[in-house]
Amino acid sequence: MKYASEFRDPSLARGLLSAIAEQADKIGATKAKPVHIMEICGGHTHSIFRYGLDKLIHPGVEFIHGPGCPVCVLPMARVDEAVQLAERPEVIFTTFGEAMRVPGHRKSLLAAKAAGADVRMVYSPLDALELARRNPGREVVFFGLGFETTTPSTALSIQQAARENLTNFTVFCNHITVPEPIKALLDDPFMVLDGFIGPGHVSMVIGVHPYDFIARDYHKPIVVAGFEPTDLLQSVLMVLTQIAEGRAQVENQYARVVPEHGNPVSLAAIEDVYERRPSFEWRGLGEIDASGLRIREKYRAFDAEEKFGIGYGAGPRDVPEVEGCACGAVMTGRIKPTACPQFGRGCTPEMPLGALMVSSEGACAAYWQYGGARGVAAE
Ligand code: SF4
Repeated sequence: MKYASEFRDPSLARGLLSAIAEQADKIGATKAKPVHIMEICGGHTHSIFRYGLDKLIHPGVEFIHGPGCPVCVLPMARVDEAVQLAERPEVIFTTFGEAMRVPGHRKSLLAAKAAGADVRMVYSPLDALELARRNPGREVVFFGLGFETTTPSTALSIQQAARENLTNFTVFCNHITVPEPIKALLDDPFMVLDGFIGPGHVSMVIGVHPYDFIARDYHKPIVVAGFEPTDLLQSVLMVLTQIAEGRAQVENQYARVVPEHGNPVSLAAIEDVYERRPSFEWRGLGEIDASGLRIREKYRAFDAEEKFGIGYGAGPRDVPEVEGCACGAVMTGRIKPTACPQFGRGCTPEMPLGALMVSSEGACAAYWQYGGARGVAAE
């Protein structure tokens, strides 16, 4: 497979693994006293397990799985509000497929659909726009969620709806941003993090400078990485090399895709359509200042919160997690998925209890898919 096989070259991977081992030994990292490197993005978590990098790498390197899976961090109260919207008789509620199975307190969107709500899976907000054009007598709501990777496409859809004067298209906006939760994790006195693998797709949009505070204020290295096995190994090597040399910098391993200053067209669309919420709730992390986006006043006609009176904070925000679910502890890297008492027992991809088992980017789904029953047996 051209353009992918080059990044899966076994001899290249072996060379990187031995260079990692050399640096790990140099800084005295051992299985008992490992270097903790957080991969922020759920896509990286899946690559690590898919290619068995966690098994191949020096035992002194421990991967901590970060909160970079947008479906996984969606708070239960927000799922409840989405279901509330979807159950309105005039609404066609459109969403990416993964969000349909995320459990709410009452039910998931899939359960709402089974009970008669008009919930439809779409591949893009443009599909939702098309549904609005074709169904002028219905209210089409798009479930906008995701990090800076998907934020621009929702923004462009809203701009397009405004150009067309569509009056039956709105967005239930849950877009969130990556740098703020990293800061929250770094401020957590219980977190021990020595460096970061930065998200590739998000950085394609925002560039590398939004991470400057990690190196400048917290003195931790961060390397923005690609998703192939040698990308990740090279990024780990770059983090270890910084630690060995006493440096803390933002480096870009994924320069073939990530421009230093991001994508100006996407950034302009984001700036035009959204403003920051004072704070937003993250499943497992709680409220984080300025970590969520809402639709600006000039596009309020396309804001489902305004149109249907389901504003952020309108419903109860202290919705408890499902009993026995350790999603919060997994999300913050405090425990591995296999340490959750529900893993593989009360919670599997077929019958998920928590969002981390639903999403293809969730850490629990990655452990199950690539470790499966072995993961349960190992506990
Ligand atoms: S196994 Fe299920 S309940 Fe446990 S942390 Fe993972 S998703 Fe949550």
